[in-house]
Amino acid sequence: MELKKITDGLSVSGQIQIDDLAKLAKRGFRSVICNRPDGEAADQPTHDEIEAAATQAGLRFLYLPVTPGIVTEETATLFREALTELPGPVFGYCRTGTRTTTLWALAMAKEKSVVDILAATKAAGYDMTGVARRIANGGVTPTDSVEDASYDVVIVGAGAAGVAVASSLKSRKSDLDIAIIDPADIHYYQPGWTMVGAGVFDAQTTAKTMGSLIPRGVHWVKSAVAAFEPANNAVILDGCRVVKYKRLIVCPGLKLDWAAVDGLEETLGKNGVTSNYRYDLAPYTWKLVQEQKGGRAIFTQPPMPIKCAGAPQKAMYLSASEWEKQGKLGNMDIQFMNAGGVLFGVKDYVPALEEYVKRYDAKLNFFHNLIAVDGPNKTATFKVAKPDAEPETVTVEFDMLHVCPPQCAPDFIKVSPLVDAAGWVDVDQVTLRHKTFDNIWSLGDVMNAPNAKTAAAARMQAPVVAANIAADIDGKGPQAGYNGYGSCPLTVEKGKIVLAEFGYGGVLLPSFPKWALDGTKATRRAWILKEQILPPVYWKAMLRGKEWMIKPEKIIAK
Ligand SMILES: Cc1cc2nc3c(=O)[nH]c(=O)nc-3n(C[C@H](O)[C@H](O)[C@H](O)COP(=O)(O)OP(=O)(O)OC[C@H]3O[C@@H](n4cnc5c(N)ncnc54)[C@H](O)[C@@H]3O)c2cc1C
Repeated sequence: MELKKITDGLSVSGQIQIDDLAKLAKRGFRSVICNRPDGEAADQPTHDEIEAAATQAGLRFLYLPVTPGIVTEETATLFREALTELPGPVFGYCRTGTRTTTLWALAMAKEKSVVDILAATKAAGYDMTGVARRIANGGVTPTDSVEDASYDVVIVGAGAAGVAVASSLKSRKSDLDIAIIDPADIHYYQPGWTMVGAGVFDAQTTAKTMGSLIPRGVHWVKSAVAAFEPANNAVILDGCRVVKYKRLIVCPGLKLDWAAVDGLEETLGKNGVTSNYRYDLAPYTWKLVQEQKGGRAIFTQPPMPIKCAGAPQKAMYLSASEWEKQGKLGNMDIQFMNAGGVLFGVKDYVPALEEYVKRYDAKLNFFHNLIAVDGPNKTATFKVAKPDAEPETVTVEFDMLHVCPPQCAPDFIKVSPLVDAAGWVDVDQVTLRHKTFDNIWSLGDVMNAPNAKTAAAARMQAPVVAANIAADIDGKGPQAGYNGYGSCPLTVEKGKIVLAEFGYGGVLLPSFPKWALDGTKATRRAWILKEQILPPVYWKAMLRGKEWMIKPEKIIAK
């Protein structure tokens, strides 16, 4: 008997034997539900025999048989009532545990979210994707009276990647029927937030209404995707609407996991705690920088992967640059707390960055991972896990704290059948096609190719996915390959940038010849690029399918 815990109140397993009942009682269970009809297999004890052993062991017993493949609403309701009425914790079983788990998933559909239910069952080893629609519909089988919407291509997420790939596809195949699903009213140019935190851009210039950016001829389904049914070529929206596709592109970005740091959420935006990772907080960074007269400023970086791996230190350099300009730098104690062990992942850029670390007299603290913040008392607690040393916890006082939050795949992605063990969408890193499902592609922050998660990467990936989908429609194999290009303009001082551009394995992929712009040095030209050229390139080229300087590499059939 291998027990799988669904919640504190319910565990399940496959078929049990008579002598298991005493063991269950010993492990603290107080009730048993049998969901397997008698007589399914020759070696199966009847429910009467199980009930007798349960009673003898002091356990309550309920027989609630479920025919395989037919989990009715009535039985799910009875299961729900049993969970309330029977003393817990409850143990349930059928042949494999799947029917019991399905009953629980449907029984909970009215009180828990689809994502929470899929997460709990997936953690126990049961895939409930097959009943995701019913869960999304409150446990009730959706009626077929409304026909499912259906498109040639469905795109999940209208961020940097989603809008760019929709435009790139339309420019290749104008007659394609494309829908893009996103619940957001506003689309953000997130790379601009570093500049907002330094008082260079107004926050408003980094936001536009979503409606104004959806490419002409593309349908915008203003809703959130709750679950995936790749076997039926369908996605399920919040509220149980179903959207069908011939081909699917998954690009809903990543999740900023603020809640993973104790005490952080309640103090963000006050007590000197800020983050350029949120539109509404980046202006607070600039306010704090201007207000500091002296004291300790801490800049944190969580474990990888994160989007724009340079952004945590960019905030530090630009703040220090301002303090230097105002003649306050000597009064500041600047601390960079990095969960990782290096300043930047591609070594060619590190010497230029180290010069600035020295210039600003910033202290680099590696292997320091932020785990808690006490806003009112202005302290930050770090787990320090240096190689070859016992992990320890240190608490440090601060006057200003800039936090880059821990990051992971969105919850509805993590619980889907599309992901690798770490929860990211599992793609071929060259073609960006899903490794298991042939008609699914993914790009942007959500997928697992080992590139730097940046808008610059999404800009390069969009034509690759568009070209490969267009080829697939024409009955051809993949035509375009992604080389892992990503870019990180490291704003080392106001007016100068170290422009990191690299691909898979840290190979340098500069866009310009060295004489025009040497990315390994801090240059004024790179600053002009970031300040004046890249924003219009984003809004007017990338999001509109104009693929300037980003011709995908051709895949040569062997
Ligand atoms: C502070 C900061 C600085 C940065 N600096 C740079 C930089 O200098 N250069 C650079 O290239 N990149 C930079 N980036 C990173 C860049 O912004 C991201 O890598 C890029 O936006 C990723 O694009 P995406 O489309 O994958 O995700 P996003 O742009 O985050 O878009 C995801 C979209 O999916 C939608 N979505 C989410 N859940 C659902 C759902 N359930 N159903 C449907 N839709 C959903 C969201 O509403 C959103 O519109 C920076 C980011 C930050 C935060």
